[in-house]
Amino acid sequence: MGRRPHVLIIPFPAQGHVTPLMKFAYQISDHGIKVTFVNSDFIHEKLVATLPDEDEARSRIGLASIPDGLGPGEEDRKDSLKWTDSILRVMPGHLKELIEKVNNSNDDEKITCVIADTAVGWALEVAEKMGIESVAFCPFGPGSLALVFHIPRLIEAGHVNGIDGSLLNEELICLAKDIPAFSSNRLPWSCPSDVTVQEILFGLALQCIPAMNLPNWLLCNSVYELDSSACDLIPNILPIGPLLASNHLAHYAGNFWPEDSTCISWLDKQPAGSVIYVAFGSLAILSQHQFNELALGIELVGRPFLWVVRSDFADGSAAEYPDGFIERVAEHGKIVSWAPQEEVLAHPSVACFLSHCGWNSTMDGIGVGVPFLCWPYFADQFHNQSYICDKWKVGLGLNPDENGFISRHEIKKKIEKLVSDDGIKANAEKLKEMARKSVSEGGSSYENFKTFIEAMKH
Ligand code: UDP
Repeated sequence: MGRRPHVLIIPFPAQGHVTPLMKFAYQISDHGIKVTFVNSDFIHEKLVATLPDEDEARSRIGLASIPDGLGPGEEDRKDSLKWTDSILRVMPGHLKELIEKVNNSNDDEKITCVIADTAVGWALEVAEKMGIESVAFCPFGPGSLALVFHIPRLIEAGHVNGIDGSLLNEELICLAKDIPAFSSNRLPWSCPSDVTVQEILFGLALQCIPAMNLPNWLLCNSVYELDSSACDLIPNILPIGPLLASNHLAHYAGNFWPEDSTCISWLDKQPAGSVIYVAFGSLAILSQHQFNELALGIELVGRPFLWVVRSDFADGSAAEYPDGFIERVAEHGKIVSWAPQEEVLAHPSVACFLSHCGWNSTMDGIGVGVPFLCWPYFADQFHNQSYICDKWKVGLGLNPDENGFISRHEIKKKIEKLVSDDGIKANAEKLKEMARKSVSEGGSSYENFKTFIEAMKH
């Protein structure tokens, strides 16, 4: 028998990238593959701080870290341009050193493969130069990836500006009949509120291009049957989702914030199918005015709700709730700063998911058949909304008023419409069943994963 395979996994340093790659790390370690998971030092500290001292994850997955070139605090990373520049400049060299160190320390445990997030294309290049097999992992949906791979042709055709990714004409981009068309503010790198962030997102999209030419594998957290048209446009793609942490161990090591699990015992006390779950992922931020409308909208519905309010959610800092709100909703509302989302969504008390439509949240909801109320913030979230509302028909969107805000009345109206729509509920159930089948023996994701594991072992 040969040496035990040793895989190094490296995500882009953001929650929505670390989460799926960590779930994947658990999944492959279940199959006897040794995993070293590499974060930036800054992210590593956050993950370790949320883990209990005696956590199973610490022994299952090797957690390693390398510098991203900036100081230890949040402050330096608030300048996204400085941060992404520093990552590109500094991390490839540190990754190479780390691999050399591991390989020189134990002949039997040499790294046999590097699995890199598509957003860190530079890591694939480091592996290639070192003669190590490289595999790409796409943390967003195949539809968005198909568009990203199309960028060189879009630039050549004069459709997209090669510097900031803006569209140079108003024509919609249609990749295939069954892929929702992309408009200028619905691109995977769109950030209508901040041009600099859009430029950064476009730079990250360009980082994905090397994965297009990989001779080997390109894994993604999706299900072939959910988006076969987009998958068919990407020859080497291998959908293996939806990835679930709950299949692998009770506590999982991918959170930047400690989970508040008191919300599960709170959910246990609520009637079946009654609770509105509200969560906007790790990055979305609302203005204080928009935050107030959201609070008052949820209150107006009068149903039980569970709301994740991160400490930086309102204008980048702690939220101020409308006067008297906390007292008025005390009986039927629960607010936490970070939830065990997979577990929450799978809870029988949950009726619907008011979501920013990040890809991971989308997969979380699809996997358990929960209808969505969509409130995208930036990047691929707009296009994910198109999948949810227009293609899969498992959710509704929210319309802004004449001042660009989503009013409390719109929130109330759409939540009520959503929870009474039997067609949407039935579609969500169908997709849940499709997702369940795909990860069960004989299903597409199951077979793709098996093929991959067998190849890793030989
Ligand atoms: N998440 C969580 N608890 C929360 C909110 C989010 O565990 O209270 C997880 C969620 O399950 C998902 C990830 O954080 O895996 C967010 O990723 P997503 O792609 O949805 O959004 P992003 O944070 O990248 O905008």
